[in-house]
Amino acid sequence: SMAAPVEKEIIFRSKLPDIEIPNHLPLHSYCFQNIAAVADRPCIIYGPTGRIYTYAEVALTARRVAAGLHNLGIRQGDVIMVLLPNSPEFVFSFLGASFRGAATTTANPFYTPAEIHKQAIAAGARLVVTQSCYVEKFKGLEGVKIVCTDSPAPEGCILFSELTSADETAVPPVDPQPDDVVALPFSSGTTGLPKGVAQQVDGENPNLWFRSEDVVLCVLPLFHIYSLNSVLLCGLRAGSAILIMPKFEVVAMMDLVQRHRVTIAPFVPPIVLALVKSPMIDCYDLSSIRTIMSGAAPMGKELEDALKAKIPTATIGQGYGMTEAGPEPYTVKSGACGTVVRNAELKIVDPDSGDSLPRHSAGEICIRGAQIMKGYLNDPEATARTVDEEGWLHTGDVGLVDDDDEIFIVDRLKELIKYKGFQVAPQNSRPCSSPTRKSPTPPSGGRDSSGFVVRFDGSSISEEEVKQYISKQVVFYKRIHKVFFVKTIPKAPSGKILRKDLRAMLADGFAAT
Ligand code: AMP
Repeated sequence: SMAAPVEKEIIFRSKLPDIEIPNHLPLHSYCFQNIAAVADRPCIIYGPTGRIYTYAEVALTARRVAAGLHNLGIRQGDVIMVLLPNSPEFVFSFLGASFRGAATTTANPFYTPAEIHKQAIAAGARLVVTQSCYVEKFKGLEGVKIVCTDSPAPEGCILFSELTSADETAVPPVDPQPDDVVALPFSSGTTGLPKGVAQQVDGENPNLWFRSEDVVLCVLPLFHIYSLNSVLLCGLRAGSAILIMPKFEVVAMMDLVQRHRVTIAPFVPPIVLALVKSPMIDCYDLSSIRTIMSGAAPMGKELEDALKAKIPTATIGQGYGMTEAGPEPYTVKSGACGTVVRNAELKIVDPDSGDSLPRHSAGEICIRGAQIMKGYLNDPEATARTVDEEGWLHTGDVGLVDDDDEIFIVDRLKELIKYKGFQVAPQNSRPCSSPTRKSPTPPSGGRDSSGFVVRFDGSSISEEEVKQYISKQVVFYKRIHKVFFVKTIPKAPSGKILRKDLRAMLADGFAAT
Protein backbone atom coordinates (compact mmCIF):
# COMPACT_ATOMS: atom_id res chain seq x y z
CA SER A 1 0.00 0.00 0.00
CA MET A 2 0.96 3.67 -0.26
CA ALA A 3 0.49 4.37 3.45
CA ALA A 4 3.65 5.52 5.17
CA PRO A 5 4.70 3.35 8.10
CA VAL A 6 3.24 4.75 11.32
CA GLU A 7 5.99 5.95 13.62
CA LYS A 8 5.76 4.24 16.95
CA GLU A 9 5.12 6.71 19.71
CA ILE A 10 7.08 6.53 22.93
CA ILE A 11 4.53 6.75 25.72
CA PHE A 12 5.09 6.59 29.47
CA ARG A 13 2.47 5.35 31.91
CA SER A 14 2.09 4.89 35.66
CA LYS A 15 3.36 1.62 37.10
CA LEU A 16 0.17 1.49 39.19
CA PRO A 17 -3.05 0.11 37.77
CA ASP A 18 -5.70 2.57 36.61
CA ILE A 19 -8.47 3.51 38.99
CA GLU A 20 -12.12 3.30 38.13
CA ILE A 21 -13.66 6.72 37.67
CA PRO A 22 -17.35 6.91 38.54
CA ASN A 23 -18.73 8.72 35.52
CA HIS A 24 -22.19 9.46 36.76
CA LEU A 25 -21.43 10.74 40.22
CA PRO A 26 -21.47 14.51 40.76
CA LEU A 27 -18.46 15.86 42.60
CA HIS A 28 -20.12 16.40 45.99
CA SER A 29 -21.52 12.84 45.97
CA TYR A 30 -18.10 11.52 45.12
CA CYS A 31 -16.52 13.49 47.97
CA PHE A 32 -19.16 12.35 50.44
CA GLN A 33 -19.43 8.77 49.17
CA ASN A 34 -18.01 7.31 52.38
CA ILE A 35 -19.53 9.88 54.72
CA ALA A 36 -21.48 7.34 56.81
CA ALA A 37 -18.22 6.11 58.31
CA VAL A 38 -17.06 9.61 59.27
CA ALA A 39 -20.32 11.54 59.85
CA ASP A 40 -19.41 12.56 63.40
CA ARG A 41 -15.72 13.10 62.77
CA PRO A 42 -14.18 16.53 62.21
CA CYS A 43 -14.38 17.63 58.59
CA ILE A 44 -13.32 21.26 58.86
CA ILE A 45 -11.30 22.80 61.65
CA TYR A 46 -11.09 26.58 61.31
CA GLY A 47 -7.60 27.51 62.53
CA PRO A 48 -8.15 31.04 63.93
CA THR A 49 -11.10 30.05 66.14
CA GLY A 50 -10.57 26.31 66.54
CA ARG A 51 -14.22 25.75 65.55
CA ILE A 52 -14.88 22.23 64.32
CA TYR A 53 -17.55 21.23 61.78
CA THR A 54 -18.28 17.52 61.49
CA TYR A 55 -18.83 15.75 58.17
CA ALA A 56 -22.58 15.58 58.88
CA GLU A 57 -22.66 19.33 59.54
CA VAL A 58 -20.69 20.20 56.42
CA ALA A 59 -22.90 18.05 54.20
CA LEU A 60 -26.05 19.53 55.73
CA THR A 61 -24.79 23.11 55.44
CA ALA A 62 -23.79 22.55 51.82
CA ARG A 63 -27.32 21.33 51.09
CA ARG A 64 -28.80 24.39 52.78
CA VAL A 65 -26.53 26.66 50.77
CA ALA A 66 -27.71 24.87 47.64
CA ALA A 67 -31.32 25.62 48.63
CA GLY A 68 -30.36 29.22 49.43
CA LEU A 69 -28.68 29.58 46.02
CA HIS A 70 -31.80 28.19 44.42
CA ASN A 71 -33.92 30.78 46.28
CA LEU A 72 -31.66 33.46 44.84
CA GLY A 73 -32.31 32.23 41.32
CA ILE A 74 -29.28 29.98 40.75
CA ARG A 75 -30.15 27.12 38.42
CA GLN A 76 -28.35 24.06 37.08
CA GLY A 77 -25.58 25.16 34.73
CA ASP A 78 -25.21 28.62 36.29
CA VAL A 79 -21.91 29.97 37.58
CA ILE A 80 -21.16 31.58 40.94
CA MET A 81 -17.95 33.35 41.87
CA VAL A 82 -16.25 32.81 45.21
CA LEU A 83 -13.92 35.61 46.26
CA LEU A 84 -12.91 34.56 49.75
CA PRO A 85 -9.84 33.72 51.76
CA ASN A 86 -9.71 30.11 52.97
CA SER A 87 -12.73 29.74 55.24
CA PRO A 88 -15.57 27.33 56.03
CA GLU A 89 -17.83 29.55 53.88
CA PHE A 90 -15.57 28.91 50.89
CA VAL A 91 -16.14 25.18 51.30
CA PHE A 92 -19.89 25.55 51.87
CA SER A 93 -20.23 27.75 48.78
CA PHE A 94 -18.28 25.43 46.49
CA LEU A 95 -20.10 22.30 47.68
CA GLY A 96 -23.45 24.11 47.79
CA ALA A 97 -23.06 25.16 44.17
CA SER A 98 -22.19 21.58 43.22
CA PHE A 99 -25.32 20.32 45.05
CA ARG A 100 -27.32 22.84 43.02
CA GLY A 101 -25.69 21.70 39.76
CA ALA A 102 -23.90 25.02 39.40
CA ALA A 103 -20.21 25.70 38.75
CA THR A 104 -17.89 27.84 40.85
CA THR A 105 -15.24 30.20 39.55
CA THR A 106 -12.61 31.19 42.09
CA ALA A 107 -10.32 34.19 42.19
CA ASN A 108 -7.73 35.79 44.40
CA PRO A 109 -9.37 38.29 46.81
CA PHE A 110 -6.35 40.54 46.29
CA TYR A 111 -7.17 40.96 42.62
CA THR A 112 -7.88 44.50 41.54
CA PRO A 113 -11.45 45.42 40.50
CA ALA A 114 -10.42 45.31 36.84
CA GLU A 115 -9.05 41.77 37.18
CA ILE A 116 -12.16 40.62 39.05
CA HIS A 117 -14.64 42.17 36.64
CA LYS A 118 -12.89 40.61 33.70
CA GLN A 119 -13.08 37.14 35.21
CA ALA A 120 -16.65 37.50 36.51
CA ILE A 121 -17.83 38.57 33.07
CA ALA A 122 -15.85 35.91 31.20
CA ALA A 123 -17.21 33.20 33.51
CA GLY A 124 -20.76 34.55 33.33
CA ALA A 125 -21.04 34.66 37.12
CA ARG A 126 -24.57 35.46 38.31
CA LEU A 127 -23.80 35.60 42.01
CA VAL A 128 -20.75 36.31 44.13
CA VAL A 129 -19.87 35.13 47.62
CA THR A 130 -17.40 37.46 49.29
CA GLN A 131 -16.55 39.42 52.45
CA SER A 132 -17.78 42.95 53.15
CA CYS A 133 -14.24 44.33 52.75
CA TYR A 134 -14.17 43.20 49.10
CA VAL A 135 -17.68 44.29 48.11
CA GLU A 136 -16.35 47.60 46.74
CA LYS A 137 -14.43 45.64 44.12
CA PHE A 138 -17.68 44.59 42.45
CA LYS A 139 -18.96 48.14 42.05
CA GLY A 140 -20.28 48.64 38.55
CA LEU A 141 -20.71 44.93 37.80
CA GLU A 142 -24.26 44.75 36.52
CA GLY A 143 -26.77 42.03 37.31
CA VAL A 144 -24.66 40.12 39.81
CA LYS A 145 -26.06 39.34 43.27
CA ILE A 146 -23.61 39.76 46.11
CA VAL A 147 -23.61 37.51 49.16
CA CYS A 148 -21.55 38.62 52.14
CA THR A 149 -20.13 36.20 54.72
CA ASP A 150 -19.84 38.75 57.54
CA SER A 151 -22.32 41.18 59.04
CA PRO A 152 -23.36 43.88 58.85
CA ALA A 153 -23.43 43.43 55.11
CA PRO A 154 -23.04 46.55 52.99
CA GLU A 155 -26.23 47.90 51.47
CA GLY A 156 -27.73 45.78 48.75
CA CYS A 157 -25.87 42.62 49.79
CA ILE A 158 -27.41 39.38 50.98
CA LEU A 159 -26.09 37.78 54.15
CA PHE A 160 -24.54 34.33 53.88
CA SER A 161 -26.64 33.26 56.87
CA GLU A 162 -29.64 33.58 54.59
CA LEU A 163 -28.16 30.71 52.57
CA THR A 164 -27.19 28.55 55.52
CA SER A 165 -30.64 28.89 57.07
CA ALA A 166 -32.51 27.83 53.93
CA ASP A 167 -34.59 24.65 53.99
CA GLU A 168 -32.32 21.89 52.75
CA THR A 169 -35.27 19.79 51.62
CA ALA A 170 -36.13 22.51 49.10
CA VAL A 171 -33.27 21.86 46.67
CA PRO A 172 -34.94 20.74 43.46
CA PRO A 173 -33.59 17.52 42.00
CA VAL A 174 -30.58 18.01 39.78
CA ASP A 175 -29.82 15.74 36.87
CA PRO A 176 -26.06 15.95 36.54
CA GLN A 177 -24.38 14.79 33.36
CA PRO A 178 -20.79 13.52 33.21
CA ASP A 179 -19.86 16.47 31.01
CA ASP A 180 -21.24 19.18 33.32
CA VAL A 181 -18.81 21.78 34.56
CA VAL A 182 -18.27 22.01 38.31
CA ALA A 183 -15.19 24.23 38.60
CA LEU A 184 -14.03 27.16 36.52
CA PRO A 185 -10.54 27.98 37.74
CA PHE A 186 -8.80 30.63 35.67
CA SER A 187 -5.38 30.03 34.26
CA SER A 188 -3.14 32.05 32.02
CA GLY A 189 -3.19 29.12 29.64
CA THR A 190 -0.21 28.27 27.53
CA THR A 191 -0.58 31.31 25.33
CA GLY A 192 -0.55 33.97 27.98
CA LEU A 193 -4.17 35.10 28.13
CA PRO A 194 -6.45 34.16 31.00
CA LYS A 195 -9.19 31.71 30.16
CA GLY A 196 -11.78 29.80 32.07
CA VAL A 197 -10.66 26.25 32.62
CA ALA A 198 -13.43 23.71 32.90
CA GLN A 199 -12.89 20.47 34.74
CA GLN A 200 -15.13 17.53 34.23
CA VAL A 201 -17.33 16.32 37.04
CA ASP A 202 -15.50 13.04 36.88
CA GLY A 203 -12.07 14.55 36.54
CA GLU A 204 -10.97 13.98 40.08
CA ASN A 205 -8.34 11.51 41.08
CA PRO A 206 -8.64 10.10 44.61
CA ASN A 207 -5.41 10.37 46.41
CA LEU A 208 -4.36 7.18 48.12
CA TRP A 209 -2.16 9.08 50.47
CA PHE A 210 -5.00 10.57 52.51
CA ARG A 211 -6.67 8.58 55.27
CA SER A 212 -9.64 9.32 57.49
CA GLU A 213 -7.42 9.71 60.55
CA ASP A 214 -5.32 12.35 58.79
CA VAL A 215 -5.31 16.03 59.66
CA VAL A 216 -4.66 17.92 56.44
CA LEU A 217 -3.29 21.45 56.55
CA CYS A 218 -5.13 23.79 54.19
CA VAL A 219 -2.98 26.93 54.06
CA LEU A 220 -2.58 27.12 50.29
CA PRO A 221 -5.27 29.34 48.80
CA LEU A 222 -8.41 27.43 47.88
CA PHE A 223 -8.93 29.68 44.87
CA HIS A 224 -6.03 27.85 43.21
CA ILE A 225 -6.69 24.38 41.85
CA TYR A 226 -3.84 22.82 43.85
CA SER A 227 -5.56 23.53 47.15
CA LEU A 228 -9.12 23.11 45.89
CA ASN A 229 -8.50 19.71 44.33
CA SER A 230 -5.48 18.13 45.95
CA VAL A 231 -6.13 19.41 49.46
CA LEU A 232 -9.84 20.04 50.01
CA LEU A 233 -11.56 17.60 47.65
CA CYS A 234 -9.09 14.77 48.22
CA GLY A 235 -9.31 15.41 51.97
CA LEU A 236 -13.11 15.24 51.92
CA ARG A 237 -13.11 12.08 49.86
CA ALA A 238 -10.78 10.41 52.35
CA GLY A 239 -12.78 11.59 55.37
CA SER A 240 -9.79 13.50 56.79
CA ALA A 241 -9.98 16.55 59.02
CA ILE A 242 -9.13 19.68 57.03
CA LEU A 243 -7.44 22.40 59.04
CA ILE A 244 -8.17 25.74 57.37
CA MET A 245 -5.79 28.68 57.65
CA PRO A 246 -6.96 31.90 55.99
CA LYS A 247 -3.54 33.50 55.69
CA PHE A 248 0.01 32.18 55.64
CA GLU A 249 2.29 33.21 58.45
CA VAL A 250 5.07 30.81 59.30
CA VAL A 251 4.94 30.89 63.12
CA ALA A 252 1.14 30.76 63.26
CA MET A 253 1.31 27.82 60.87
CA MET A 254 3.81 25.88 62.99
CA ASP A 255 1.66 26.60 66.03
CA LEU A 256 -1.42 25.13 64.32
CA VAL A 257 0.53 22.09 63.10
CA GLN A 258 1.68 21.36 66.62
CA ARG A 259 -1.70 22.05 68.25
CA HIS A 260 -3.77 19.94 65.86
CA ARG A 261 -1.16 17.26 65.18
CA VAL A 262 -1.21 17.86 61.42
CA THR A 263 -0.22 14.74 59.46
CA ILE A 264 -0.37 15.99 55.86
CA ALA A 265 1.18 19.29 54.87
CA PRO A 266 0.66 20.46 51.30
CA PHE A 267 3.11 23.27 50.56
CA VAL A 268 4.62 25.29 47.74
CA PRO A 269 8.37 26.01 47.58
CA PRO A 270 8.14 29.58 49.01
CA ILE A 271 6.39 28.20 52.11
CA VAL A 272 9.00 25.46 52.46
CA LEU A 273 11.67 28.15 52.23
CA ALA A 274 10.02 30.28 54.92
CA LEU A 275 9.70 27.21 57.12
CA VAL A 276 13.29 25.98 56.92
CA LYS A 277 14.59 29.53 57.37
CA SER A 278 12.42 30.31 60.37
CA PRO A 279 14.52 30.70 63.53
CA MET A 280 11.45 29.46 65.43
CA ILE A 281 11.26 26.04 63.76
CA ASP A 282 13.14 24.31 66.56
CA CYS A 283 10.62 25.61 69.11
CA TYR A 284 7.78 23.60 67.60
CA ASP A 285 7.05 19.90 67.50
CA LEU A 286 6.30 19.15 63.85
CA SER A 287 6.88 15.41 64.16
CA SER A 288 3.19 14.62 63.57
CA ILE A 289 3.68 15.40 59.86
CA ARG A 290 4.02 12.15 57.92
CA THR A 291 3.64 13.58 54.41
CA ILE A 292 4.74 16.89 52.93
CA MET A 293 3.63 17.68 49.40
CA SER A 294 5.17 20.34 47.22
CA GLY A 295 4.03 21.57 43.85
CA ALA A 296 3.09 24.56 41.66
CA ALA A 297 6.74 25.47 41.14
CA PRO A 298 10.07 23.63 41.21
CA MET A 299 11.56 22.70 44.57
CA GLY A 300 15.30 22.38 44.10
CA LYS A 301 17.44 19.69 45.66
CA GLU A 302 19.01 22.08 48.14
CA LEU A 303 15.64 23.17 49.51
CA GLU A 304 14.34 19.62 49.65
CA ASP A 305 17.43 18.49 51.56
CA ALA A 306 17.07 21.38 54.01
CA LEU A 307 13.44 20.39 54.57
CA LYS A 308 14.37 16.75 55.15
CA ALA A 309 16.93 17.81 57.73
CA LYS A 310 14.39 19.95 59.61
CA ILE A 311 11.47 17.49 59.52
CA PRO A 312 13.12 14.07 59.19
CA THR A 313 9.96 12.16 60.08
CA ALA A 314 8.09 13.32 56.97
CA THR A 315 7.95 11.70 53.56
CA ILE A 316 8.25 14.34 50.87
CA GLY A 317 6.15 14.00 47.74
CA GLN A 318 6.37 16.31 44.77
CA GLY A 319 3.56 16.91 42.34
CA TYR A 320 3.75 18.52 38.96
CA GLY A 321 0.52 19.65 37.45
CA MET A 322 -1.30 22.60 36.06
CA THR A 323 -4.75 24.07 36.26
CA GLU A 324 -5.43 22.28 32.99
CA ALA A 325 -4.33 18.86 34.25
CA GLY A 326 -4.47 17.46 37.76
CA PRO A 327 -1.45 15.92 39.47
CA GLU A 328 -0.95 13.30 42.13
CA PRO A 329 2.02 13.55 44.48
CA TYR A 330 4.69 10.87 44.55
CA THR A 331 7.94 10.45 46.36
CA VAL A 332 10.68 10.99 43.85
CA LYS A 333 14.37 11.74 43.91
CA SER A 334 15.47 15.30 44.61
CA GLY A 335 15.16 17.51 41.58
CA ALA A 336 12.44 15.41 39.97
CA CYS A 337 8.94 16.81 40.07
CA GLY A 338 6.95 13.59 39.94
CA THR A 339 6.01 10.68 37.77
CA VAL A 340 3.10 9.80 35.51
CA VAL A 341 -0.20 9.57 37.36
CA ARG A 342 -2.69 6.75 36.98
CA ASN A 343 -5.21 6.88 34.15
CA ALA A 344 -2.79 9.02 32.18
CA GLU A 345 -0.22 8.83 29.42
CA LEU A 346 2.79 11.05 28.99
CA LYS A 347 5.10 11.68 26.08
CA ILE A 348 8.00 14.02 25.49
CA VAL A 349 7.74 15.73 22.15
CA ASP A 350 10.38 17.42 20.05
CA PRO A 351 8.80 20.87 19.55
CA ASP A 352 10.21 21.16 16.03
CA SER A 353 9.55 17.73 14.52
CA GLY A 354 6.61 16.67 16.71
CA ASP A 355 8.26 13.27 17.25
CA SER A 356 8.06 11.64 20.65
CA LEU A 357 11.45 11.32 22.31
CA PRO A 358 13.08 8.54 24.34
CA ARG A 359 14.23 8.75 27.96
CA HIS A 360 16.78 11.41 28.86
CA SER A 361 15.85 13.64 25.90
CA ALA A 362 14.22 16.95 26.77
CA GLY A 363 11.09 18.06 24.96
CA GLU A 364 7.61 19.41 25.55
CA ILE A 365 5.68 17.39 28.11
CA CYS A 366 2.36 16.19 26.68
CA ILE A 367 -0.29 14.48 28.77
CA ARG A 368 -3.40 12.56 27.85
CA GLY A 369 -5.98 11.12 30.22
CA ALA A 370 -8.97 11.53 32.46
CA GLN A 371 -7.54 14.35 34.53
CA ILE A 372 -7.32 16.82 31.71
CA MET A 373 -9.55 19.86 31.56
CA LYS A 374 -12.73 19.86 29.57
CA GLY A 375 -11.45 22.91 27.72
CA TYR A 376 -11.01 26.66 27.87
CA LEU A 377 -14.36 28.34 28.42
CA ASN A 378 -15.91 29.68 25.23
CA ASP A 379 -12.58 29.46 23.46
CA PRO A 380 -12.43 26.41 21.17
CA GLU A 381 -9.42 27.84 19.34
CA ALA A 382 -7.28 28.12 22.46
CA THR A 383 -8.47 24.67 23.50
CA ALA A 384 -7.48 23.23 20.14
CA ARG A 385 -4.06 24.86 20.38
CA THR A 386 -3.51 23.22 23.77
CA VAL A 387 -5.24 19.85 23.42
CA ASP A 388 -4.62 18.27 20.02
CA GLU A 389 -6.94 16.03 18.02
CA GLU A 390 -5.58 12.90 19.65
CA GLY A 391 -6.30 14.28 23.10
CA TRP A 392 -2.73 15.22 24.02
CA LEU A 393 -2.49 18.30 26.22
CA HIS A 394 0.62 20.29 25.32
CA THR A 395 1.78 21.64 28.68
CA GLY A 396 4.25 24.25 27.47
CA ASP A 397 6.76 22.82 29.93
CA VAL A 398 10.01 21.27 28.78
CA GLY A 399 11.11 18.15 30.60
CA LEU A 400 12.61 14.69 30.38
CA VAL A 401 11.94 11.24 31.79
CA ASP A 402 14.72 9.30 33.51
CA ASP A 403 15.31 5.55 33.95
CA ASP A 404 12.94 5.42 36.92
CA ASP A 405 10.10 7.11 35.03
CA GLU A 406 10.66 10.26 37.03
CA ILE A 407 10.16 13.61 35.36
CA PHE A 408 12.50 16.56 35.43
CA ILE A 409 11.37 20.00 34.29
CA VAL A 410 14.17 21.85 32.56
CA ASP A 411 12.57 24.83 30.82
CA ARG A 412 9.32 26.41 29.72
CA LEU A 413 8.07 27.07 26.20
CA LYS A 414 4.97 28.99 27.16
CA GLU A 415 4.74 32.63 28.05
CA LEU A 416 4.28 32.24 31.77
CA ILE A 417 6.04 33.60 34.80
CA LYS A 418 5.55 31.95 38.16
CA TYR A 419 6.00 34.23 41.13
CA LYS A 420 5.79 32.45 44.49
CA GLY A 421 3.72 29.74 42.79
CA PHE A 422 1.26 32.25 41.32
CA GLN A 423 0.76 32.66 37.59
CA VAL A 424 1.75 35.85 35.87
CA ALA A 425 0.90 36.11 32.19
CA PRO A 426 3.31 38.68 30.81
CA GLN A 427 1.14 39.56 27.84
CA ASN A 428 -1.79 40.14 30.11
CA SER A 429 -0.41 43.32 31.61
CA ARG A 430 -2.43 46.29 30.46
CA PRO A 431 -0.75 48.27 27.77
CA CYS A 432 0.31 51.59 29.21
CA SER A 433 -1.57 54.56 27.91
CA SER A 434 1.51 56.56 28.69
CA PRO A 435 4.25 56.08 26.14
CA THR A 436 5.80 52.80 27.25
CA ARG A 437 5.75 49.15 26.37
CA LYS A 438 6.71 46.38 28.62
CA SER A 439 7.50 42.76 28.47
CA PRO A 440 8.67 40.98 31.59
CA THR A 441 11.36 38.37 31.69
CA PRO A 442 10.97 34.59 31.50
CA PRO A 443 10.23 32.17 34.35
CA SER A 444 11.79 33.47 37.49
CA GLY A 445 10.90 30.64 39.86
CA GLY A 446 9.91 33.13 42.48
CA ARG A 447 12.62 35.65 41.78
CA ASP A 448 11.76 39.22 40.88
CA SER A 449 10.10 40.00 37.57
CA SER A 450 11.63 42.52 35.25
CA GLY A 451 9.94 44.72 32.71
CA PHE A 452 11.51 45.84 29.47
CA VAL A 453 10.21 49.20 28.38
CA VAL A 454 10.53 51.13 25.15
CA ARG A 455 10.24 54.87 25.66
CA PHE A 456 8.47 56.70 22.85
CA ASP A 457 10.30 59.69 21.44
CA GLY A 458 10.49 62.46 23.94
CA SER A 459 9.27 60.39 26.88
CA SER A 460 11.25 60.64 30.07
CA ILE A 461 9.13 58.27 32.13
CA SER A 462 11.12 56.86 35.04
CA GLU A 463 11.49 53.36 36.42
CA GLU A 464 9.47 54.37 39.49
CA GLU A 465 6.62 55.75 37.36
CA VAL A 466 6.42 52.57 35.32
CA LYS A 467 6.37 50.42 38.44
CA GLN A 468 3.63 52.51 40.03
CA TYR A 469 1.61 52.48 36.85
CA ILE A 470 1.63 48.67 36.79
CA SER A 471 1.02 48.32 40.55
CA LYS A 472 -2.24 50.22 40.34
CA GLN A 473 -3.70 47.74 37.90
CA VAL A 474 -2.63 44.30 39.03
CA VAL A 475 -2.51 42.08 42.11
CA PHE A 476 0.74 42.33 44.09
CA TYR A 477 2.48 39.29 42.66
CA LYS A 478 2.11 40.55 39.08
CA ARG A 479 4.05 43.72 39.84
CA ILE A 480 7.42 44.28 38.28
CA HIS A 481 10.43 44.83 40.45
CA LYS A 482 12.93 46.13 37.93
CA VAL A 483 12.55 48.14 34.78
CA PHE A 484 14.97 48.16 31.88
CA PHE A 485 14.66 50.78 29.17
CA VAL A 486 15.53 49.43 25.73
CA LYS A 487 15.42 50.76 22.18
CA THR A 488 13.39 47.84 20.86
CA ILE A 489 11.93 44.58 22.11
CA PRO A 490 13.67 41.72 20.28
CA LYS A 491 11.11 39.81 18.23
CA ALA A 492 11.08 36.90 15.82
CA PRO A 493 9.65 37.55 12.35
CA SER A 494 6.45 35.90 13.61
CA GLY A 495 6.11 38.68 16.16
CA LYS A 496 6.89 36.40 19.08
CA ILE A 497 9.00 38.12 21.72
CA LEU A 498 12.46 36.57 21.93
CA ARG A 499 12.62 35.98 25.64
CA LYS A 500 15.90 34.13 25.27
CA ASP A 501 17.46 37.38 24.07
CA LEU A 502 15.97 39.32 26.96
CA ARG A 503 17.27 36.67 29.34
CA ALA A 504 20.70 36.94 27.77
CA MET A 505 20.60 40.71 28.22
CA LEU A 506 19.88 40.23 31.91
CA ALA A 507 22.63 37.66 32.27
CA ASP A 508 25.06 40.04 30.60
CA GLY A 509 24.52 42.41 33.50
CA PHE A 510 22.32 44.74 31.53
CA ALA A 511 22.19 48.03 33.39
CA ALA A 512 19.22 50.36 33.55
CA THR A 513 19.85 53.44 31.49
P1 AMP B 1 -0.81 26.37 37.54
O1 AMP B 1 -1.86 26.15 36.49
O2 AMP B 1 -0.92 27.72 38.21
O3 AMP B 1 -0.75 25.25 38.52
O4 AMP B 1 0.60 26.41 36.78
C1 AMP B 1 1.07 25.27 36.12
C2 AMP B 1 2.53 25.41 35.79
O5 AMP B 1 3.31 25.52 36.98
C3 AMP B 1 3.08 24.21 35.09
O6 AMP B 1 2.79 24.21 33.71
C4 AMP B 1 4.57 24.33 35.38
O7 AMP B 1 5.19 25.29 34.54
C5 AMP B 1 4.58 24.87 36.81
N1 AMP B 1 4.70 23.77 37.80
C6 AMP B 1 3.71 23.18 38.48
N2 AMP B 1 4.18 22.22 39.31
C7 AMP B 1 5.52 22.20 39.17
C8 AMP B 1 6.59 21.43 39.76
N3 AMP B 1 6.38 20.51 40.71
N4 AMP B 1 7.85 21.69 39.33
C9 AMP B 1 8.09 22.63 38.39
N5 AMP B 1 7.13 23.38 37.81
C10 AMP B 1 5.85 23.19 38.19
